[in-house]
This record gives sequence, C-alpha cells and structure tokens, in this order.
Amino acid sequence: MSDDTTRIIVLGGGFAGAYCVRRLERRLASVNHQITLINERNNFVFTPMLLEAATSALEPRHVVIPLRGFLRQAELVMAHVDSVDLRNRTVTAATEFGEKKEFAYDHLVLALGSETRMPDVPGLKEFAFGVKTLGDAATLRDRAIGMLEMANLHSSHKDRLSWLTFAIVGAGYTGVEAAGEFNAFLREATRPYRHIEESDVRVMLIQRSGRILDALDETTSQKASAVLERNGVEIRLNESISRINQSSFELESGETVRSHTVIWSAGVAPPPLLGQLDLPVNHHGYLECDPDLRVQGHENIWGIGDCASNPDPQNNPYPPTAQHALQEGRKAAENIAAVISGRPTEPLRYRSKGTMAALGGRQAIANILGMHLTGILAWFLWRSVYLGIMPGIGRKLRVATDWTIDLFFSRDYSQLNHSTADRNRDGDSN
Ligand SMILES: Cc1cc2nc3c(=O)[nH]c(=O)nc-3n(C[C@H](O)[C@H](O)[C@H](O)COP(=O)(O)OP(=O)(O)OC[C@H]3O[C@@H](n4cnc5c(N)ncnc54)[C@H](O)[C@@H]3O)c2cc1C
Repeated sequence: MSDDTTRIIVLGGGFAGAYCVRRLERRLASVNHQITLINERNNFVFTPMLLEAATSALEPRHVVIPLRGFLRQAELVMAHVDSVDLRNRTVTAATEFGEKKEFAYDHLVLALGSETRMPDVPGLKEFAFGVKTLGDAATLRDRAIGMLEMANLHSSHKDRLSWLTFAIVGAGYTGVEAAGEFNAFLREATRPYRHIEESDVRVMLIQRSGRILDALDETTSQKASAVLERNGVEIRLNESISRINQSSFELESGETVRSHTVIWSAGVAPPPLLGQLDLPVNHHGYLECDPDLRVQGHENIWGIGDCASNPDPQNNPYPPTAQHALQEGRKAAENIAAVISGRPTEPLRYRSKGTMAALGGRQAIANILGMHLTGILAWFLWRSVYLGIMPGIGRKLRVATDWTIDLFFSRDYSQLNHSTADRNRDGDSN
C-alpha cells in the first residue's frame, strides 16, 4: 500500500454498509484506495423477508446475503468492533476467537444498525422472543412448531389455547408483519394435527398507541387493522405488557393471559458502541448527521442507516427502514468519492418506492405512486418489489422457487434446532 492510498473503513455490513461499499468499489475505481468492511457476520439479513423464513414460506438460508459474494474488491473482516480511537483514527475489532485487530482509516463510515429496545419489564429478557436475526427467525419457527406439538397433546380447549396464544408487542412494521404471518402460519399448520382446531389459535397484537402502523397515514393503518382482524388477529390498542412469566403475561390494564410465547418488537435502540464514542448523538442516542450524511463536526466520519439521524429537507430525521438505509449507503459513497476528488458533497434526496407491509395469508398493504392498495394485489406487488431489490440472480431464483412451492404445497412443520437455551427457558411448564 503506497502513502497516497485512501483507507475507508465501513463498520456494519447491513443494508446501509453493504450498499455503501458496493458503490465505493465503483466510484473509486480510478483512485488509489483500500476499502475494509467490518461486520460481525459474513452475511447480512434481508429483513423484509425474515418473517417468511420464520413461518416456513422461505428457506431461512435464502434470506441472508453472503457478503463475500456481494462485494467485488473490498476486504471483508468478520469481527465485532470494540472501540474507535477518533484521535489516532483507528478501529479495534475482535474475532469470534477473541483475537484483536487494529485498522487505520482516513474515512470512517458508521453503519451499525440498531438493536431491539428492551425496557425494564419483568420477565422480558428471560421469556420474550426477539425478531431481528436469522437465529431469531429459526428459534421462532421452532417455537411455533413446538407449541403446536404441545397443544396437540392436550384435550381441553383452554389448555390448547394457552399453548397457541402468541402475543406480539409493538405494532410497527415488524410487529404487524409478525402478527399477520404467525396468524396465517399457525392457522394453516393446525390441519395436519389431529387434536387441534383452528379456533385454538389466538394471535394478539398489542400496541401502546391508539393505532397500528402509527408511522403511516391513518387510512393505511385502518385498512391494515381491518385485514388483520378479518383474518382473526386480536388487536389491543392503548395497551402494553407489564410482566412476562413462563406460561402467562400480564397486561397493563390488569388482565392475565395464559401464553407461552411473547414476541417483543416494541421499538429500537442505538448500538451500544455509539455510547462509547465522543460523537454527537440526539436525545435517543443516534448519530447527529448533516444533510450530506457526515457526522456533525467531523470531516471524515459518516453516519448512515438505522444508527444515524439523517435530516430530510424539512430537517426531520429520515425513518429507519431498509429503503432509507440503502439510499443513504449509496449517497455516503458518492460523497466520500466527491471529497477524495475535491468536489463538493450533496445532501441526500430520498426517492421513495412507496410503503408496503405484508399482513400474512397472501395479504398486504401498499402505498405506491399515490395508490392505496390492500389485499392480494398489494401482496403480489410487495413480493415483486422485494424480489427486485434482493441482490443476485441466484438468490432471486431461490426465493422465487420457495414462493412457488409455497403456493402449491403445504409448509414444512419439522423443527430445525430446538436449542438447549430454549428448552431451559421452558422448563416443564403448564
Ligand atoms: C423483522 C424485520 C422486518 C423488517 N421489514 C422491513 C421492511 O419490510 N421494509 C423496510 O424498509 N425495512 C424493514 N425493516 C427495517 C430494516 O431491516 C432496517 O431499517 C435496516 O436493516 C437498516 O439497515 P442498517 O444497515 O442500518 O442496519 P442493519 O441491516 O441492522 O445492519 C447493521 C449491521 O451492523 C452489524 N454490527 C452491529 N454492531 C456491530 C459491531 N459492534 N461490530 C461489527 N458489526 C456490527 C450487524 O451485525 C449488522 O450486520 C425490518 C426490520 C426487521 C427486524
């Protein structure tokens, strides 16, 4: 490496980081450069399809993108970033075997995503399930199948109902998709079980505010509620959970519900590393950035994706979605290339492809080009748009094949890996 090599390090290889690196590889082709992407895993999760992996519509491996195939020339380091020394411009990361490595940078891109917010609810950490990683999807799939097996062993409707009551807390995109997909999956899955009725399934969607999908307009939110309720999802508004036990949970309104599965999707929190850096953050802990995606007050540090608060032209933060993360990643790459070649940077002007959410049972809502669509057409559109975004022809084909098989054949109800941790969590309850 010669002295005039520009070293760019991207921390986090999700939608924002991975697409930033891809664009940098193209834009810096004529410049002497070195790009390093540091990510905990050697793949990234295509989250819009994660719930389909959790409910057997898709093979779980097909919703992760292998980063080594996705990148062209950039160096990929699979390690956990421990610290950043802003003064000496170095990053320290540890491999899964505890080996520490140090990397020097000229430009640093922070694309570390977000974590699920875990408030101080008794029992939350011990008994609730998350829905963020491929591991979460596999665990939830096994859990749902395990609950069907348990319910099948019980003769009383009350007992079967307790095994098949699933509560989803938080009705943003993730919670709404989880409620819709699990409701459809569990109801269909009752068919091969001789002792379970569809009426033994109860899926509750619990939302603290007065409507679901409250980041979207009221009409969309009402339409989504109507579809979910028609399919049997029980929506509880202005409500939350105050305690989770092994085989029940308590609602803030005082009711106790027998259930073994609470899925927590109520809000996100910034990645812990940000709290250790001397960088400007907003009152929620996300990086404060300028319109060109630079972290405020830092010429060579960039913040993109869920971990950053990037202002729109009205100075409101862009929402934390995959679509935004992807466009922020590309724009940061363009701006880094501009800085390196002495050109001015530009603000991000987000171009929306519309908003969409899957509601389970081949239903979705979509707001595209000013049209509000609901039902099977919206679902078809949802699938087409995300299949279009999914990188790589091989992966697109795998996903399309899974979907086609799912249209004609029943889903697979064999468990993959009921983990020891999961068994410990359950004990011999009920
Ligand atoms: C179940 C689910 C469904 C969703 N559905 C949609 C949808 O339909 N449409 C939509 O637009 N958005 C959706 N989202 C939101 C979307 O996934 C996020 O907005 C998007 O992933 C943000 O991209 P990102 O690159 O900022 O973060 P991420 O994609 O989370 O990537 C961050 C990366 O950083 C890595 N990382 C974090 N800390 C470290 C560290 N210390 N060291 C090394 N690596 C680290 C992580 O492992 C991860 O790979 C969904 C999210 C979930 C959970």
